[in-house]
Parts: sequence; C-alpha cells; structure tokens
Amino acid sequence: MKKAPKFIFVVGGVISGVGKGTIASSLGYLLKLNGFSVAICKIDPYISMDAGNMRPTAHGEVFVSKDGGEMDMDLGNYERMLDFEITKNHNITTGKVYQNVINKERRMEYNGNHAEVIPDIPNEVERMIFEVVKENNNPDFLIVELGGTVGDLQNAIFEYALANMSKKYLAITILVTYIFYLSSVGEFKSKPTQHAILALRHAGLNPDFLIARGEKDIPDEFLQKISERDFVEKDHIVSLPDLRSSYDVPIKLFESKILKKILDNFSEVSKKDPKDKIFEYQKFLQSTFESKEIVRIGLVEKYGKMDSTQHKDVFVSVYHSLIFAGSKLGVKVIVEQVPAIDLTDENLNEKLGHLDGILVPGGFGASGVEGKILAIKYARERSIPFFGICYGMQMATIEFARNVCGMNGANTTEVNQNTKFPVVDILPEQIAKLREKNFGGTMRLGNYEAILSKGSLAEKLYGSEKIIERHRHRYELNPNFIEKLESKGLKVSGRSPDGILPEIIELPNHPFFIGVQFHPEFKSRPLIPHPIFLGFIEASRKKGKNF
Ligand code: GLN
Repeated sequence: MKKAPKFIFVVGGVISGVGKGTIASSLGYLLKLNGFSVAICKIDPYISMDAGNMRPTAHGEVFVSKDGGEMDMDLGNYERMLDFEITKNHNITTGKVYQNVINKERRMEYNGNHAEVIPDIPNEVERMIFEVVKENNNPDFLIVELGGTVGDLQNAIFEYALANMSKKYLAITILVTYIFYLSSVGEFKSKPTQHAILALRHAGLNPDFLIARGEKDIPDEFLQKISERDFVEKDHIVSLPDLRSSYDVPIKLFESKILKKILDNFSEVSKKDPKDKIFEYQKFLQSTFESKEIVRIGLVEKYGKMDSTQHKDVFVSVYHSLIFAGSKLGVKVIVEQVPAIDLTDENLNEKLGHLDGILVPGGFGASGVEGKILAIKYARERSIPFFGICYGMQMATIEFARNVCGMNGANTTEVNQNTKFPVVDILPEQIAKLREKNFGGTMRLGNYEAILSKGSLAEKLYGSEKIIERHRHRYELNPNFIEKLESKGLKVSGRSPDGILPEIIELPNHPFFIGVQFHPEFKSRPLIPHPIFLGFIEASRKKGKNF
C-alpha cells in the first residue's frame, strides 16, 4: 500500500447548502488541536475549470489562493479554520480532471490505448488528491469534501473514485444529511436520509458517520431509529441543529465527542490535549457575540438589495475579517449592506450618516460606480474612516482626482475608455487577454510583494516594510497621474518592489483613509485578524465614540 494519509471523505445527502464545508473544516480544526497534521481539499463537480468566471451573486465570493487560484468560497473557510495556505490544487473540478486526462492523451501518455471515463477519470481524481497529499508533506489526515449531494449524476465519477480509494487506503465517509421536521404532524422525517444512505451505498461508500443537520436538535430516540434502519452505529450519529453562527460549529462538534469516535475508528489516539486552544476559541466566540459596544460598518457595493445570507456569501471573507477584527478589540461589528446604486447627492446623510466606517470592496464593471464615488467623497470630507479594497481603492483615486485635483470626468478605462483622465488604466499585459477573450485565470492573480513607505499608515499597521498580499485585478492606478495626485495630498504608501505599480494609497490628513490594490480579506484568521482590518475597526470605533 503506498504511503497515504488517513482519509476522511465528507459528502452530503438530501440537500446541499447545509454546512458541509463548515463541518469539514471544523473537523480539521479539531484534528489539528489534537496534535495531528491535517490538510483539506474540495471537489466541485462542475465543468467550469474554477470559480473565476462565476458571478458572486450566484456562487458566492471567488476566493483567491496564494498561487493565484480562483476558487469556491469554502476554500476560504478551510484557510481560516486551519490557518494554512492552500493552493489551486486543493480545488478539484470536473473541468480540471477532464482537461488533465485529455492533455495526457494528446501527449500520447496512454501508450496507444484509448483514454476512457473508466478507469482514467477516477484514476486522475486519485492522482490529483495525492498531489494535495504531497504538497502537504503527507499529513496524518486528509479531509476531502465532495460538493453537491450523493446521487447527483455529476458526482458519480467522484463517488466512484472515492469508493475505490476507500478500498485501498484507510478512509472513512461522513455523510452530512438533513432531517426535515414536519410541523403539521409534529414529526421528524427520516425517509430522505434513508434514500441518501442508499445512494451512498450504491456508490460503494459506507456511511461510517452521520451528521444530522436540522432546524432544531434531533432527539435521541429519532437518531436511534435512523441507526436501526440504516445500520449506522448510534454513537456515530451526531445531531447538529442550526446554531447562532457557523463559528459555533467547532465547539458543538467538540462537545459531541465525534472526534474521539473518528480516532477510535482509525485506531488512533489524541496526541495533544486541545483544552487550552478550545478555551481560547471560546473566548473569541464570547467576544464576538457578547461585546456590548457596537461599531457600524457600511459595505458600499454594486449589487441591489440582497438577503443577508446572499450578501454574506458575496463578501464572505470581508465579513469575516471585519468580525475577527471586532472580536479582537471587544466590539461587535454590524455590517450594513449599502447598495451603491441607491446613493444620490441628496440622500448621503440618510444612508451613510449613522455609520462609523465605510468600506468599498472589490468589484467589476460600471454598475454602482458613481454611488461608490459619492460614498468615498462623503467619507473623505467628513473624516469617516474609509477602507477601499481593489476596486474600492481605484474608486477612491478617481474621487480624489475629480474632486480634489479638478480632473473632471476622471475615470477608470474599465468604465470609460475615452476619459480625459484615465487615472486607473488597464495593465499593459492584460490588453491582449481581453481582446482575445482569454478571461479564465488570466488576471494579475495571487501573491505579490509590496514595499511600504517608512512612516506611512500602512507601515504602522503592518509593523513591517515588506508585505505579501493576494491580488485579483486587470487594472491599476495609472503611474502617469501619481505625481499630480500626490501634489494634492494623496500618498502612495505601497509599491511593487520594482517601484512601478502603486499598491496602497492613503490620505495622511484624514483620521483613517486607506485603499489597497490587493485583497487583505483572504488572509484574516479568527484569532489573528488582518492588521488593516484591525486598524479600520479601531478607527471606526473612535469615530463612533465622538458622537
Ligand atoms: N475591476 C477592477 C480590476 O480589474 C478591480 C478588481 C477587483 O476589485 N477585484 O482591476
């Protein structure tokens, strides 16, 4: 048997969207606290190569890895919970698997045989999983989350691959299922779960553990019934009702003692007492939810009114980063969605007047741009703490050019190709890519270094002169306008190491005004918030107190 970690396959039954990703990463977190090395990866059964070309309102945030992967937002939860940095390889899609097989065939690596769905596709899935194993130096455990639900046609090939692997290596399968409660008859219903289990067995995977999600806690007698009907040991079934937030899942799973049973199953014992770390995490929860002081942050973005779950998904890493910073400072951060398209010169006081801080996040295209610029002007003129991320930083530059430097009609060429003042312009290497519609995975993506100016706000926040952050953009501040902008008080405080690309701007005579070309939200962790978010919440808190 080749050297392999112990595999934990996390699959879903009945419906998707019930927190498989949170459960998978929480289990990883608990394994880590028990002294094991652990890695985690996700299979998304769609044909799209990655999430890069997907609309965030339909699929949630596009998460960016250090090596420039554009991926499903679950991968961001993995990084936050396990405090490690993933790579592209940690997100396997049908598109990538087939492309690899086709490329291999074109290189004649099937030795004159024809490439076939079976066995070449599942073999490639296994090979790709072992790439992740290798990249993580053969960890004790590898958690593999399979997106969607068991029995989906598009999942069949992955189930086949996992079933094959579970015969060859030490592996367990955890089925995250959903138990409906019918209030009209006052009963929990087990039939959909039975069907999911059947589908799983049919695929050759055994439901070693069940996590029974539901609106409320599922009574023991009912879990007993599932155990008897589905031949799953009763103490391998855990009820996981809707909780106050996804942050509570690790603690709920810790209390369920599921980890001990998982370890027993592998004949493993805990290597470390997780007590101190759990205590630390509980304090984080306490501070997150029980702090009395409130800081209100307006997230000004282009989409129209969304429900709060959808809004959180679109900006999930920004939300988390704000909350983590608040938790560290002992304040409760309330994030308010402000649709930029609703903002006019007349209603700024009504829409923004009560906010302690304004954040304009990343974005693309013309929609909402003028509203964002109005919000930034409001923040600049009224000394409201402002934080612009990527497009938000570009908008802040446009606002400053128009309203302080008198460059009427200044814009980004993303919105107006004919502007007289293209203060934000396309990066030269991007021009051909756009012309050829070569959109997938071609932005300036992933980690780049920046050098910070001594004595700047950025340098103070980071406590260092050299930083590495993740990028995702095609446009950038136009170097030809920097001198003029700087002469009026805008400061470029971070640049690419060659000195060419402006990466951070700030306004030194404002209490807190910073814009960054990169995405710091991807690097925040629950207990280690990102320094710019921390500074932003701190400044917003001070602003709140002045009222
Ligand atoms: N649309 C802008 C660009 O491509 C900003 C991208 C972003 O906010 N991620 O440069």
